[in-house]
Amino acid sequence: MTKACKTCHLIVEEAAECPLCKGTDFSEKFNSIALIFDATKSEIAAKLGVSAPGRYAIKVR
Ligand SMILES: [Zn+2]
Repeated sequence: MTKACKTCHLIVEEAAECPLCKGTDFSEKFNSIALIFDATKSEIAAKLGVSAPGRYAIKVR
């Protein structure tokens, strides 16, 4: 099951804990996904407050 971390918005597959922020609060309800390749050059990354490449949910409910 694909889900999004509510804390940092990282998209994860089967995981009990977020590999990025170590959070355990996930949601399966998210609308859009942003692919961040270079967080230092990405406006979306800045907006979401992420600093590592990966797939992120734009809005997590
Ligand atoms: Zn996280």
